[in-house]
Formats: sequence, structure tokens, C-alpha cells
Amino acid sequence: MNAFFPAVFFLFGLLFGSFLNVCIFRLPRELSVVSPRSFCPGCSAPIAAYDNIPVLSWIILRGKCRDCGARISPRYAVVELLTGALFLLSYFAAGSIAEAVKLCVLSFLLIGLIFTDAETKLLPDLLTKPGIVLGLLFSLVVPVEGPAQFLLLLLRATPNWRVLSLLNSLAGAILGSAFILGVALLYEALRGVEGMGRGDVKLMAMIGAFLGVKQTLLVLLLGSFIGSVFGLLLILRVWLKRLARRRQRIPAEPRRQARRRAWQSATLIYRNFEIPFGVFLGIAALISAFWGPALVRWYFYLYR
Ligand SMILES: [Zn+2]
Repeated sequence: MNAFFPAVFFLFGLLFGSFLNVCIFRLPRELSVVSPRSFCPGCSAPIAAYDNIPVLSWIILRGKCRDCGARISPRYAVVELLTGALFLLSYFAAGSIAEAVKLCVLSFLLIGLIFTDAETKLLPDLLTKPGIVLGLLFSLVVPVEGPAQFLLLLLRATPNWRVLSLLNSLAGAILGSAFILGVALLYEALRGVEGMGRGDVKLMAMIGAFLGVKQTLLVLLLGSFIGSVFGLLLILRVWLKRLARRRQRIPAEPRRQARRRAWQSATLIYRNFEIPFGVFLGIAALISAFWGPALVRWYFYLYR
């Protein structure tokens, strides 16, 4: 097998991952991503080109700044490797070069948004808004499936496949953003506080534009599932911690009562804990983009 193209995709992934690290640090702080050159967040010393090689530099410097020894987060190497891996996967998963590039662009945007949301609870407009436009534009090159076919059958028109594809991409964007906006408004009406930000609405519009209606439904389903599992694990962890502390402090307390009290206190964390929905939707979108059709097939196979 020819290794040239896979190697090119992987290397481009590493480089774009390196640029993403700059975006993840600078976009939420409203700094320019072009200038100045990369600097150490600890001592502001500019980072030399030979210390800025994706993944390798982090390993050689053992995750520390050469100048001041400040710890450099493993996130830098993780983002680079992940982007490299997903670019490589894009090459193998796609049926054409255009589709591979589309998957690379989607992976790039999603990794950036997932990590920015996890670190700062923000989904920068500078990633989501161009993302929506790119998703719509890609539908003119890589066909997006969806309900437009049926609609136009009713109108007895037979337009160009690009028009259909664009309509399907638009339908995905509208469905995704409308759903999140609906949930956000409902949540605000019921609880009186903002649960999901407007960033999540734009993120889902972007995902919908890239993936179309069917996959968007899968992303919403998968995203809620991943979020619920995360929420349960979080509560469970806090519960176990509180329980251990309680047993140490009040050894005479009956076991059952201790468990109940610790549970009550653990569930309270939801009152002021901001759930990073963008992270779950982003992970769900990556899974859907690469394994969505296989997942849907497997699901229907189970219920046959
Ligand atoms: Zn430094």
C-alpha cells in the first residue's frame, strides 16, 4: 500500500493541531492567533522553531518550558496527536479526496471547540460561524443526504444535485440549532437561569450543516447519552468522596443515613455546576461523522 497520502494527512493533522493549541489558548482571551509568535504562558519567552515541533518537542522538553521550567500542559501534545489521528482517519474513511478534506475540516473545528469549551466554557464565534459557512459550502462539493429529495418530488421539479445537497445541509443546520435553542429556552423558562449558551446553538448549526438531518438526530441522541453518563459518573464520584469524609468525621452515624445525606449533598453540585454541553455535542459529532452510518445499521440490526 502506498503510504504517501496517509503520511501527508497525518503530518498536516499534527501541524493543524499545533495551530489549534494556539487557538484554544488565544481565542477565549480575545488575542490574535497570528501574532505574536508562540510564547510560553509562564515567562512569555518566545518559543524557538526547534522547540515548536508537534508532539516531539513536548516529549523532548518533558512538558516543561526551556527557559523558565514552567509546566506545559499535556493538552498540547494530546491535541496535536488527536488532530493527526483524525486527519489520518479522514483519509481512510472518505470515498474521495473532497470528502476526506471535509472530514479533516470538521475534525479540526470540533477538536478546537471541544477543548476550548472544556477549558473555558466558551465556544468562540471565530470557530462556529465560519464553521457554519464551510459546512454549507462543502455540501456543494460532497453530497449531503436528507429530506429535500422528497420535497422536490412533491413539487415535481428535478433540480441539480448540488441544490438538493445544499438544501439538506441547510435543513440539518436549522434542525440542530432549533432543537438546542428550544431546549435552552425551555430550561430558562423552567429554572430561570441560562443552562445552554448561544454558543451551543451555533455549534449545532455547524454540525447540522456538515452532517445533514439524519446524522444531526444521531448527534443529539448520542450527545445527551454521553452527557448523562458523564453527569452520573460525576455525581457518583462526589458522593463517594463525601461519604468517605462523613464516615471519618461521624463514625457513629448509621451507614444508611450517611449514604443518604452524602447523596443529597452530592446532587446539590448541579445547582452551580456548568455542564459543558459543547464537549458532549462535539464528541457525539465526531463519532457520528466517522461511525454514524455503521452505528445506525448496528442499531436497526439489534431490533430486527
Ligand atoms: Zn517559560
